[in-house]
Amino acid sequence: LKYIGKDKEEKKVIDLGDNVKIGDNNFTIIGGPCSVESRSQIEKIASYLSEKNIKILRGGAFKPRTSPYSFQGLGFEGLKYLKECGEKYNMKIVSEILDPRDVEDAIDYVDIIQIGSRNMQNYTLLKEVGKVNKPVMLKRGMTATIEEWLMAAEYIALEGNDNIILCERGIRTFDNYTRNTLDLTVVPILKALTKLPIIIDPSHGTGVRRLVAPMSKASAAVEADGIMVEVHFSPEEALSDGHQSIDFRAFDELIEETNRVFDCI
Ligand code: PEP
Ligand code: MN
Repeated sequence: LKYIGKDKEEKKVIDLGDNVKIGDNNFTIIGGPCSVESRSQIEKIASYLSEKNIKILRGGAFKPRTSPYSFQGLGFEGLKYLKECGEKYNMKIVSEILDPRDVEDAIDYVDIIQIGSRNMQNYTLLKEVGKVNKPVMLKRGMTATIEEWLMAAEYIALEGNDNIILCERGIRTFDNYTRNTLDLTVVPILKALTKLPIIIDPSHGTGVRRLVAPMSKASAAVEADGIMVEVHFSPEEALSDGHQSIDFRAFDELIEETNRVFDCI
């Protein structure tokens, strides 16, 4: 690992400005809906999260849905609403970009570009985000080995951008009780191999609402750099991933319990 190994730096701290950092020995909690559904929806969620002192807002504008008939996201309109919320509530924005042709325009709207699981080995897209001056959150491919994941990160860094956050979001296994099997072993493994911070996504990592808080606590215990959680005021009505989204009350509890674990370690 020429660019993301540990030889140059012990730990890469991702500095998003306004004193918001990932990988600086804090535990970062990122929250927000699976999809941006409307201006009022994202505004309501951002308002709540900022009150809880959450500094990074997630929300999908370009959605990689399994079915072409499912809600595909609001596109640039969604990114615009996210940016408005970021400015209003002083939050940083993370959102997925699907198309290499959108990268240049999207960097005006987001603070972190998310590369989704389905695109972890989309080398055209990886090279494109490697050329811009914007942190990238690289989610693990749902069937990717750790080696493949690290090589994908190396593709980005090779182009000049080593502001990369690795995000474990579960892998496909034979089990079908959960949507994915959340692989928390990656945290100590990756810490030994790379300087990059690692964030856990317990929402996609389990696909089951009631497993999100326990896996968030486990993420803090294993010393991940943070978590990214799907939050919606009315999960039953969410246009995507409602079954794994948690409501405000559950998120209140999750923050409290997870911070308690983090304070112990
Ligand atoms: C997401 O975080 O919105 C998402 C689509 O996740 P993944 O790429 O991990 O499936
Ligand atoms: Mn989702």
